[in-house]
Amino acid sequence: MKLVTFLYNGQIRLGVLRRSAGGDTVVDLNKAEPRLPTDMIAFLQGGAETRSLADKALRSVTNASIYPLSAVTLKAPVMRPGKIICIGLNYRDHAAESGQAVPEYPTVFAKYNNCVIGPGEAIVHPKISQKVDYEAEMGVVIGRRAKAVAEADALNYVAGYLPFNDVSARDFQARVSQWEMGKSFDTFAPMGPALVTADEVPDPQSLDIRLSIGGEIMQSSNTRNLVFSVAALVSQISAVMTLEPGDVIATGTPGGVGAARKPPRFLRPGDVVRVEIERLGVLENPVVAEA
Ligand code: ZN
Repeated sequence: MKLVTFLYNGQIRLGVLRRSAGGDTVVDLNKAEPRLPTDMIAFLQGGAETRSLADKALRSVTNASIYPLSAVTLKAPVMRPGKIICIGLNYRDHAAESGQAVPEYPTVFAKYNNCVIGPGEAIVHPKISQKVDYEAEMGVVIGRRAKAVAEADALNYVAGYLPFNDVSARDFQARVSQWEMGKSFDTFAPMGPALVTADEVPDPQSLDIRLSIGGEIMQSSNTRNLVFSVAALVSQISAVMTLEPGDVIATGTPGGVGAARKPPRFLRPGDVVRVEIERLGVLENPVVAEA
């Protein structure tokens, strides 16, 4: 199931994205089944119960609850995650191009929900940064409260996956030891278009991941190259903090970021950045200058 949050007639609603030859559509889950919440986090908190309501609604859905994709505005699937936990240096080639050793433990930092935007929404290029960069990443969305879960059990706590762009102002990131300020500008966490549920992703460690700008491929790898697997990350992070439904873990970026290219290729207003992950879809965002 490709779960989406969308805007229709001025209202935020929960839906399912359907790809078909006749054109992409969105099923309005709230219209098809009014007992379902409009908020993704509430839906995830509902666990098997809300999922089964959604499955039933989809089986008997009528045309009145199906809209052409062009008639709605997709938002980030989780608009205000409780946590956005990012992993640094989690692909060997990216650690090497950054001049860093492959870490022994996950390098963890935070973004906040001021960063979140959805597909098609603009990445705002701040006036005060000259080095705004892109990072294609697979995002993991937590589905069940997780505390100190074993690696072998960790994927049972994952609701699904989505394309994520860990936009980074390298000048702000590098000027102190903590990366946070460079990572936390408004609009620096595009994600979506859909939360693809885990049942559609039997192996999250086998997905091609690619980033391009205006058709030029900048990053190309596969999630099998992650240093710390999704299961290892969920287990090790949950050893410290309770993970809640809707929390997002961005699993790190492969080589090819703009700062490491020769010459460097930073984002400019007018660029359109495209993150594509096998099975998970395409996340595209234009870059605009700060007003
Ligand atoms: Zn990153």
